[in-house]
Amino acid sequence: ASGLMQGKRGLIMGLANDKSIAWGIAQALAAEGAELAFSYQGEALKKRVGPLANELGSDFIVECDVGDEASMDALFATLAERWDNLDFVVHAIGFSDKSELRGRYVDTSRANFAMSMDISVYSFTAIAQRAEKMMNNGGSMLTLTYYGAEKVMPHYNVMGVAKAALEASVRYLAEDLGKDGIRVNAISAGTIKTLAASGIGDFRYIMKWNQYNSPLRRTVDQSEVGKSALYLLSDLSSGVTGEVHHVDAGYHVVGMKAVDAPDI
Ligand code: NAD
Repeated sequence: ASGLMQGKRGLIMGLANDKSIAWGIAQALAAEGAELAFSYQGEALKKRVGPLANELGSDFIVECDVGDEASMDALFATLAERWDNLDFVVHAIGFSDKSELRGRYVDTSRANFAMSMDISVYSFTAIAQRAEKMMNNGGSMLTLTYYGAEKVMPHYNVMGVAKAALEASVRYLAEDLGKDGIRVNAISAGTIKTLAASGIGDFRYIMKWNQYNSPLRRTVDQSEVGKSALYLLSDLSSGVTGEVHHVDAGYHVVGMKAVDAPDI
């Protein structure tokens, strides 16, 4: 068999269903021969994630709540029992109370701020701490971020602040782990209709706005994030670390509404 990811083993975190960005990434990796393990949040998701993993030739699925240190330790202990080496990790996890993904950022509560930062930001560092120990031949770690980290986007609020911190942590992790040949990058994905995205106020309007105003005059899909993830997780990007790579149909370069965009 041949393939860019042949002989490589990796953990995918954040698969919820076949609309998840993690699914687009997992499909692209499996198509190139990667061997995959999946973690899922809570027993309720097991019946969804199990069959999806099977579709890609994997029976390796492990429960993990990234907000719980013991659960994270258990995940990596299970991984180490079966695999003596890890080549890559995908962190496709974010969470905030959706009542605060609308209205004003200034009204964010202390409790939801702390929880959003913990689940959406710290978890990537907590994963890096554990994954590092299994990456004996170097490796690649990838997280997912959004333009709301850089500019104010409607309703993104505390998640924008969290993504800014996540992007900064990508740079610090890249420096710490680079000496061991471990690369750390992020994909800043354009708007894609997923379970997590549906919690954001006026998401349909934001999707339309991106479609009318991005240079490619459309939005991106999960498979396009998957293809760019394949680049960042494979040897093709061997010289790239600490990077936030936009897969957003170019939306982030635009300075104003397109002249041909309809009023919506
Ligand atoms: P999704 O709902 O399919 O995935 C989110 C995942 O986070 C789910 O699998 C959920 O189980 C997991 N999760 C939440 N809390 C968790 C916890 N405590 N422990 C373990 N897992 C937990 O939605 P998605 O859009 O595929 O989101 C994946 C990533 O992509 C997120 O970081 C999101 O912010 C980012 N992103 C999404 C978009 C978009 O438009 N959909 C754009 C840019 C970035």
